[in-house]
Amino acid sequence: MTKARIIDAGRSDRGWSRVGNFFKCPQLFSYDQRIGVELIPADPLLKGSLGHLLQAHLHGRWGAAQGGCWVDNEWISEPEQLLAPEEAATIWAEANNAERHLPLMLEIFDAYLDQFPEPPGRILAVEHQITGVLGYDPAGDWGLWDRDNPHISPTPLDMPGHPEHGKPITLTRRVDLTIRDGAGRAWVWDHKHQARVNPGKSTEAYAIDGGFTAFRILGRQVWDNFGGLALNLIQTRKPWKVARVPVPFTPWRDTHFAEMLWRAEHQIARLDMDGIDPWTWPKAQHETTCFGRYGGCAALRLCMYGKSEMNQH
Ligand code: SF4
Repeated sequence: MTKARIIDAGRSDRGWSRVGNFFKCPQLFSYDQRIGVELIPADPLLKGSLGHLLQAHLHGRWGAAQGGCWVDNEWISEPEQLLAPEEAATIWAEANNAERHLPLMLEIFDAYLDQFPEPPGRILAVEHQITGVLGYDPAGDWGLWDRDNPHISPTPLDMPGHPEHGKPITLTRRVDLTIRDGAGRAWVWDHKHQARVNPGKSTEAYAIDGGFTAFRILGRQVWDNFGGLALNLIQTRKPWKVARVPVPFTPWRDTHFAEMLWRAEHQIARLDMDGIDPWTWPKAQHETTCFGRYGGCAALRLCMYGKSEMNQH
C-alpha cells in the first residue's frame, strides 16, 4: 500500500507573486527575485501555510472518497494516500519550526469543520498547478493560454542577449481547490485566512488582484462549464467565522491582461539588460503603495537606508 503523504501547498513555480510584485513596485520585485530578501514576515506566512495545508488535506481526502481528484499533479483515488489533516499539519509544523501556531490553527480548523462538515461539491482538484503561456491559439487569437493545450503557438520573450530570450513567457498558479457544484459548474476556490472576515471589502480587493484574473482566464480553459471564482474566507480570531463568497468579474481588465503581462516581462528583461544595481531599480515611493492596509511594506527600511539594513532585516 502507498505511504500516505503530505501535500505541497507552497508557492507555484512562476506565480503571480513574482510578476505581481513587479506591477506593484519594480524594486520590490528586485528585492525578492534579484537580491533574494525574505519579504513575507514569518508568522503570517507560517499560519497561512498551516491553514492551507489543513484545507488541502481535508478536501483532498474528500475528493478521493468521491471517486478521485487531482492533488497537485497526481490523481488520488484513496483517502489513505493522504495524511489526515491534523497529522499533516503536525508533521509540517515540526519540520518548519511552526509548532507555536499549531494549537490555534487546529482550533480554527475544528470550528471550520463544525460549520461545514460536508464537501462543498464534487471535488475536482486540490493544490493543482496550472500554467498559462502567452501565444496564439489556432484561430489566431493572441492571449494567455493553458500551456497544456498542444495547439498553442507561444510568443517567446524578445530580448536578444537576455538569458530568457526565446523562451515562452509563462505564469503559473497553484489553485487551492476546484469543485463542481450541483448545477454542474466548475468553481475555483481560494482559501484566505484573515484576522477579520469582512466579505464586502475583501471581494473587490481580491477581484482586482491580477492573480485572480489568471485563475479566471485559465480556469475556463482547464475546466469545462466554468462558473468563476469563490473565496473561502476563514477568520483567525474569535468569534470563529467563515464566509464563502463569489469573486466579482473584472471584464474590462481581463481583455488586456495578457498584453500587460507581455510588457511587464519585457520591462523586467530590459532592466536586467541595462545592468543597473538591483538595489536601484525603480521604486513606487508612494505613500499608499508603500504603506498598505497591513502596514508598511516589508522592504520599507531597505528603501529608506539601503544595504546597511540587511543585517537588521
Ligand atoms: S517600500 Fe515602497 S518603494 Fe520600497 S520596495 Fe516597498 S513598495 Fe517599493
